[in-house]
This record gives sequence, structure tokens and C-alpha cells, in this order.
Amino acid sequence: MTREDLLKLAEEYGSPLYVYDGNKIEFQYNRLKAAFKKVNRLKINYAVKALSNISVLKFLHDLGAGMDTVSLQEVRLCREAGIPAEDIIYTPNGVSMEELEGAAALGVQINIDNLSILEQFGTKHPKIPVCIRINPHVMAGGNTNISVGHIDSKFGISIHQLPHIKRIVENTGMSVNGIHMHTGSDILDIEVFLYASEILFETAAQFSDLEFIDFGSGFKVPYKEGDIETNIEEMGEKLSARFNEFCHEYGRELTLAFEPGKFLVSEAGKFLAKVNVVKQTTSTVFAQIDSGFNHFIRPMFYGSNHEIENISNPDGKPRFYSVVGYICETDTFANNRRISEISEGDIISFSNAGAYCFSMASNYNSRYRPAEILSYSGKFHLIRERETFDELIATQKLINIH
Ligand SMILES: *Cc1c(COP(=O)(O)O)cnc(C)c1O
Repeated sequence: MTREDLLKLAEEYGSPLYVYDGNKIEFQYNRLKAAFKKVNRLKINYAVKALSNISVLKFLHDLGAGMDTVSLQEVRLCREAGIPAEDIIYTPNGVSMEELEGAAALGVQINIDNLSILEQFGTKHPKIPVCIRINPHVMAGGNTNISVGHIDSKFGISIHQLPHIKRIVENTGMSVNGIHMHTGSDILDIEVFLYASEILFETAAQFSDLEFIDFGSGFKVPYKEGDIETNIEEMGEKLSARFNEFCHEYGRELTLAFEPGKFLVSEAGKFLAKVNVVKQTTSTVFAQIDSGFNHFIRPMFYGSNHEIENISNPDGKPRFYSVVGYICETDTFANNRRISEISEGDIISFSNAGAYCFSMASNYNSRYRPAEILSYSGKFHLIRERETFDELIATQKLINIH
């Protein structure tokens, strides 16, 4: 996607606007696949919550990806995108038995992350095989240290409760077809990941009916030059060898599963916004854009640092700007950032806006959520229209109290 492409899109569809590069998504997918080419059965389940537009889901499924979902609604979005139930895994956290049964009724792979539901589900539905989410309590400590911590994480069933899991499985006669972990952003380097994987292998060896082991995600992508990026190729090499060795010991070929979100879609996304006002104060120059944390919350919520480019004036003289939004709340995208000279009306572009950006957007200040574009090989497709006032009001009821 060139600057000219992006400017044309902003002109045609208005701002703010999300634009996703399908070729980049495809590149990342193929890169991950290639890193694990030595594993015969590989399943890459895309974490739907990162970017859940149904055209993106279909695009990834057409590439060969399965789907990792965390809510019944996400399961339904996948089904809406034409994705069969057998390509969907449901990995919720703390949902009701009712919702879990709803997902099971749709035929998707169930992943259970607490003992209470495991026991209830196994008692009621011993014939439906489930995956179990383990919390290996592994996190990176310091630079390359591995420490065993995070005992208070709400995710997964503690590895220390393995005897309890086994007792429930035996008592209910349920079958466990998968073992899973997703330690999320705790995992920064390969050594930590491999260490956690060993705990998963030890756990897997305790169950005799497995079909897959799911290593979750947490892969890092670079936001700016010099950022840490998970070396997927090196990890693929090391984990594949260990996985194949484990399958040999286990006596059966298992599927190696992953569920990346950010890795697949983060870098593919650009968020375009227009500068409404350039405001000079005694200490700061603010560039105030037609958006806020209602559309793009990551910089405020996580302190994430997204590259900003003035695509209307890429070769202008660089100046320092604080880029802020237009909602009535502090919504700072960047503090004193060097950007080429900004004039009112310029379009600026934020990088790494594919993952957890649109999917976290809200209607705060009663603004419409942006439109979304998916580009692929020079063609641009509108995959979501900008919201309208009718949609904003659709679920509200005007009543007369007095
Ligand atoms: C969010 C989530 C993922 C994806 O994490 P990324 O950091 O985006 O790759 C994977 N698995 C589960 C269970 C998740 O909740």
C-alpha cells in the first residue's frame, strides 16, 4: 500500500479509516507456516479478537488458518464467514456453562480453563472431547531469566492442580483431546517459550487420547526499529524438533497448534486520521485529529508506541508534535513526536493498527466507529461501512418517566 493509495482511500471513504494489507497478513501466515515446516500436522488458529471483521476471517481461513475464539459471538462470526465448526476452537475465560454448551452445540472444539466447569461439563457431556488450558506459571524475569511466577493469573488451570484435573477426568469418563497454554505477553523470548513448552509436554504425557497440543501465542512484532521481535524461524526450528521427539515418545503423531493474533495482523493495519486543528501553546504544538481512544485505544491503554507519518506531507521539515484526539478526555496518541510538518487537513497514518485496534473501538462521545478497508494485490475492498446515526440509536428506547 503506497502513500498515494492511502490518501486516495481517505478521500474516498473519509476519516478516520482502518486499512489492512492482505498481502502482509498472507506473508506473516506463510512465514509462521514455513517456520514449522518440519511438523507434519500444523494448525494455525487465528485469534479472532485481534481483528474480527468477517472478511478478514474468511481471508485467513482461505489461506488455511483455523480460528481461535473467545466468545459465542466470535464463533458465530466465523460461521457467518463460512468457516466450518471443525476449524474453530473456543477458548473462553470464565464464561457460563450455558455459553459453553452453546458453543459445544455448534460443534466447535471446546477448551476449558477452570476446574469447576471442567467437572460440570464432564459430568453432563462425557462424550464431547475437550481441550484443557493449563497455566504453566512461567514468565520472563529480567532479561533472559526464567522465573516461575504469575501464580495469581486468572487464566488457565494451574499446573499444580494437575492431580485434580486427572481425578475429574477419571471420575466423569470424559475425554481430553488437547492440552493448551497461552501465557500471552509474558513470553518475550524463545528460551522462556521452550521452558513453558516442556511443562506442557510433561502434562500432555499424562493423557492418552490427545490429538493436539496448543502452544497459544504471545509472539512479539516490532513497532519501531530496534524493537524486540520473536524470532519465529529459530523458535520453529527448536520447537518443531522437540515436538516431533515428543510425538515419537507419545507413540502417535499429534497436531501442533498455535493461535496468534497480533503476529498475523498487527503490522498489516494502518489507521488514518485527519488533522482538524494545529494548536500552538507556550510549550507544545498539538496536532488534534478527528479520532480519540474511542477508535484507537492502544497508546493510552497499553502505552504502545505506534509510528506516525504525515502522509499528506511526507517530505516536510520534521517538527515536534503531541498528537491528540478530539474526544472530551485525555487521549494522547504521542508526546512530542518528530513528524514532518503538519498542516490542518493533513492525513496522518498510524502503523501497527491491525491488532486490537478496531476490535477495541467504542462509541464513546457518540462517535461512529470507522470504516474498514482490506487491500490485496493493488485492489481495495470496503469491508465495513462507517456507522450511521441510525445504528447509534437502534438499540435505545426513549421512554417517558414523568
Ligand atoms: C488473545 C489471545 C491470543 C492471541 O494473542 P496475540 O498476542 O494477539 O497473539 C491467543 N490465544 C488466546 C487464548 C487469547 O486469548
